[in-house]
Amino acid sequence: MTRPGIFGWSYPPGVTGREPEITGEWGPCECCGCDPADCLCPECPVCGEQGNPACYLVQGGEKNHNLEYNTEQLIGQCKMRIADMKENLRYEELALIQLTELFEQEKASAEQGQGGVGASGSEDGTSER
Ligand SMILES: [Zn+2]
Ligand SMILES: [Zn+2]
Repeated sequence: MTRPGIFGWSYPPGVTGREPEITGEWGPCECCGCDPADCLCPECPVCGEQGNPACYLVQGGEKNHNLEYNTEQLIGQCKMRIADMKENLRYEELALIQLTELFEQEKASAEQGQGGVGASGSEDGTSER
């Protein structure tokens, strides 16, 4: 009997599992959630980088490069998180289906195992239901 790897796809907490496989490049911009080509982040006045989360980091009460996310970026991040959660939800639903099937199988085989053909060594002779 083959047992599918039910827990094979679960990620440790904090890991989104987003991978750049689909397009072959890196995923959406971390700051605005857009494709890097459509990145709508402003250029950092300090280091000139666009869409670098480090520029927005708050360290010791001060913004790292004094950049602040604008509403558009926050919307993009929100969408990104929702997409991640939907993905996780999909995995959980799949896992639930698989686990339920497995449980049914286990229940069925447990019932067959009892009172069927003498499996291995005669066990206690409880009358079958
Ligand atoms: Zn961006
Ligand atoms: Zn910067």
